[in-house]
Order: sequence, then C-alpha cells, then structure tokens
Amino acid sequence: SIRLRNVHKRYGKLHVLRGIDLDVEAGQTVSIIGPSGSGKSTLLRLLMTLDEPDEGSIEIDGESMWTVQRNGADKPADAAHLSRVRGRIGMVFQHFNLFPHMTALENVMEAPRHVLKLGRDEARERARDYLEMVGLGEKLDAHPGHLSGGQKQRVGIARALAMRPDIMLFDEVTSALDPELVGGILQIMRDLAAQRTMTMLIVTHQMSFAERSSDRTLFFDQGNIVEDAPSEQLFRAPAHERTQQFLQAVI
Ligand code: ATP
Ligand code: MG
Repeated sequence: SIRLRNVHKRYGKLHVLRGIDLDVEAGQTVSIIGPSGSGKSTLLRLLMTLDEPDEGSIEIDGESMWTVQRNGADKPADAAHLSRVRGRIGMVFQHFNLFPHMTALENVMEAPRHVLKLGRDEARERARDYLEMVGLGEKLDAHPGHLSGGQKQRVGIARALAMRPDIMLFDEVTSALDPELVGGILQIMRDLAAQRTMTMLIVTHQMSFAERSSDRTLFFDQGNIVEDAPSEQLFRAPAHERTQQFLQAVI
C-alpha cells in the first residue's frame, strides 16, 4: 500500500506538488491523468526516490520513506532502510532507458544479478521467463537498437517485473510508440492489473484504458489532486468543472 500525506515539492519558485494526500491499497490499479506540467511525473519520481519531497510524508506498506518538516528536516531513517523500501518499487519510463550495449536478456538480468545478487543462471532463467511473458521470447539476444519501440518497451516492463516489485509505476509508457504498437503494451498492463498481485500507478494519456482498466483515476491539475474517483465515475460523471473541461478537450 501507498500512503502520502501533505506532500509538497518545489523547484525553485515553482510549487509543483501542493499538498498531496493519497492512499492506494495493495493490489489496486490507479490511473493518473492531467495536463502537462501538473506534477504527475514528479509524484512518481518521489515514490521511486529519484527526487525528494520538501514537506510531508510517504509510507510504503506502513514503512516511512521520508518525513520532511518545514523546519528541521526529518530525513529518511537510513540509507539501508530506504533502499529496502525502494527495492519493492519498479518503474517503467516513456523513453525505455535500456542499456544499448546489452541484449534484451542482459538488460533484464542486470538488476537481479547485481542488486538481488542472484547467480548468473538463476538471473538468466528469470529474465527469460519475464521476456517470454511480455511476448519477446524470440528476441532474447537482440540489442535495443534492433528492436521496435513496442519491443523496447516490453523489455522495459520485463526488466521492472524481474525485480518482483510490490508496486509498479508507469510513466506514459505508450507515449513514444507508434499507434499500432500501443495496444499490445496496454494489453500487458491490463493483464498485470487483472492479476492484482501488484499495486500499479499509471500516468497515461490513454483515456479509454484508464476508464476501463483501472480501479480509480486521479485528475491532477497544478500540483493538486482535483478529483479522485472510481474510473467509470470520473469519466462518465466528473464532479469538478476542471475535470470536465480537461476531458472535453482530450476525448
Ligand atoms: P507531462 O504530462 O508533460 O509529462 P507532468 O504532469 O508529468 O507533465 P512534471 O514532469 O511532474 O509534469 O513537472 C511539473 C513541473 O515541474 C513542470 O513545470 C516542470 O517543468 C517542473 N520540473 C520538473 N522537474 C524539474 C526539475 N528537475 N527542475 C526544475 N523543474 C522541474
Ligand atoms: Mg510527465
């Protein structure tokens, strides 16, 4: 589970997150929609500990990641604790971020080998399983430069899954793909969501995916969660005028 209380993030004068409160139960799939610059990626980056909040608290399964107070920063417990919590979270990015000099198999093996310290054979076995699961069993030895965008994104997903995270964060993972490759990636995410074995947060512009495949949708605007509702309700009967405007503009 994920719990945020009064989370703020500023970049200089820019107040990017303005007091985010959020609870996500284990196994839930939550979509995050909203205009460009509203703070969606920033929220995922804080959860992934790629950046630090300025204020507020973040808990993963009841364990605190950060508690930061305006006066007198209360930093994370310690580095070992933080890295243990972070180890439960996987993230997939818009631009894949694969190692170009490694094959698909080597990309997926890398973290299980060096972070989880699995032996070579076990890591290879695991990587092969996840690559097969995302439909890339035939491309184990291909380098990213020889894969399509959709195939690269499958490697990115397999790489995150190979760490067996409890929480998966997806940041616009279909935005860089040719339209005909989008459906296959969405189907993988739909299947993962249906298993309910992970908690998933999905920043997306795919409104029909958000509506049909996630339990809840959050509408972000200017660093706030303006609306947080069951997905069907948010899309069919948005309660806030700002949500209505946004949906009219994008659908
Ligand atoms: P998009 O839909 O375009 O991806 P977003 O909702 O993901 O938008 P964020 O990436 O969270 O938006 O950015 C929120 C705001 O914070 C933007 O105005 C952005 O320019 C700014 N910002 C993000 N990261 C940094 C940074 N490292 N330094 C300074 N400003 C930043
Ligand atoms: Mg973003």
